[in-house]
Amino acid sequence: MSNNGKFIVVAFGGNAFQSKTDKGTIEDYWRNAYTAAEIITKLVEDGYRVVVTHGNGPQVGIIAEWMTLGLKYKNIPPMSLDVAGAMSQGWLGYILQQAIRNKLVERKLLPWKIKGVVTIITQTLVRKHDPDFQNPSKYIGPWYDKAEAEKLSLEYGWIFKPDPRGGYRRVVPSPDPINQIEIDAIKLLVENGFIVIADGGGGVPVIEEDDKLIGVEGVIDKDLGAEKLASALGADILLILTDIDCAYLNYGTPEAKPLRELTSSEALKYYEQGHFKPGSMGPKILAGVRFVRNGGKLAIIAHLMQALDALRGKAGTRILPG
Ligand code: ADP
Ligand code: MG
Repeated sequence: MSNNGKFIVVAFGGNAFQSKTDKGTIEDYWRNAYTAAEIITKLVEDGYRVVVTHGNGPQVGIIAEWMTLGLKYKNIPPMSLDVAGAMSQGWLGYILQQAIRNKLVERKLLPWKIKGVVTIITQTLVRKHDPDFQNPSKYIGPWYDKAEAEKLSLEYGWIFKPDPRGGYRRVVPSPDPINQIEIDAIKLLVENGFIVIADGGGGVPVIEEDDKLIGVEGVIDKDLGAEKLASALGADILLILTDIDCAYLNYGTPEAKPLRELTSSEALKYYEQGHFKPGSMGPKILAGVRFVRNGGKLAIIAHLMQALDALRGKAGTRILPG
């Protein structure tokens, strides 16, 4: 795809829809989606070809809660976690695609420059024997006491671990993504002038058996999924938007030092030294490193509200090849 260095994959954090101070009302969701839509619209005005992806951590947890309540009070059987992942893609995809479309129409960019905005329910291939299946570590859903946890574990095969904050919580594997099954459809749409929202929540994890796909119980890290998506599409830039201004060395200590620009080798060195927490900044840095090593030109980690400044080199952390 020819794109003059202006093909960008934008990854919104789960907090882009429900920030830490929001209650998570539907009004919060729409307000936050319009903030995201404003950023996407400005990128389109600046001549970028844009693909959008997003996290689903809070939402998968909420869906798991709904399922548990349904089970408790109405005896509605819970869905499997791959289905919950697909639900979250539909939920956030719908809100985003409507908000982005409305903004583009307002600025007269749609249907002239952009043909449409569409969400692709995305399945992402993972390894059947990914080590995370043996040692699931990602907490989702509500907290239980020990007796409840044991009962659910027997009944549904769910795995529970004690939560550092008390009580027991369901844990699920977070396998490493390999590739998106729908990548060719995504490419076709992008080439034909659509804005595509894809691989939400890192993609619905699936494994392949005898040429058939099967959904698995897990939640892929959205930053690692975004990298695979951006690399497969041949994007120039991977822009990871979150709730902190940049990545720090010695984060959370008085010696904290912001990282502005570094090569993938430097980033990997700091990663291995343990500067970035697993499950939050860690996967963002790893995604950035992988992206520029797979042919990407630039990976940026920045605060949602500084997206455009970060693209101009005035904010965020920039990871470059080398
Ligand atoms: P998102 O929903 O955008 O993926 P995360 O909570 O997963 O957000 O990741 C962002 C968080 O990473 C920040 O709010 C910060 O608390 C945490 N974090 C961990 N290590 C670092 C670090 N070294 N530098 C900056 N932030 C860090
Ligand atoms: Mg995260």
